[in-house]
Amino acid sequence: MHPSQSGIRRFQSDVWPLMSAQFAALANGQSPHTLVITCSDSRVDPSLITQSQPGELFVLRNAGNLVPKFGADDGSAAAVEYAVDALRVAHIVVCGHSGCGAMQGLLDPQAVRQLPTVARWVAHAASTREATSQLRGEARLDAAIMHNTTAQLDNLAGHPSVARAMAEGRLQLHAWVYDIRDGDIDDIDTRT
Ligand SMILES: [Zn+2]
Repeated sequence: MHPSQSGIRRFQSDVWPLMSAQFAALANGQSPHTLVITCSDSRVDPSLITQSQPGELFVLRNAGNLVPKFGADDGSAAAVEYAVDALRVAHIVVCGHSGCGAMQGLLDPQAVRQLPTVARWVAHAASTREATSQLRGEARLDAAIMHNTTAQLDNLAGHPSVARAMAEGRLQLHAWVYDIRDGDIDDIDTRT
């Protein structure tokens, strides 16, 4: 049996019955308070690290928690527009993390030589590569993770739905960095 199949059986037999009232309330619609944009990395679990329940977080995940500039990537832009204009979330959190493979690929093009699509994708974060070019090793990676996370707030602010909601005073942007080594979550930037 695939490991996830035994998990599904356990969910259906042990977990769902305990949460059935909660899911019944959610079955007719969602009203999440926050859009979380984080990395696809298997070690990062936004619901776990914020102790959130189903229905609370609208989540966009991709390699490197990127939101390219408006017009450069409809996939991420559609999730942002839907969260802000249809669901009217009050917060957008961009959450980077320690040891991010996408950031490693950004800083070391040799590492993604055989991964042309990944290389093209992380090129959206080229400003982070330039901004950290004076650093080396782990210090550079940690700096790049922080720089990239805040850079996404700049990109988000250029999305029309985000700009409008911020002008109306109904949306805050946050940049967090989650450290897998010790569970720390640094709130490194907030914009209102
Ligand atoms: Zn990552």
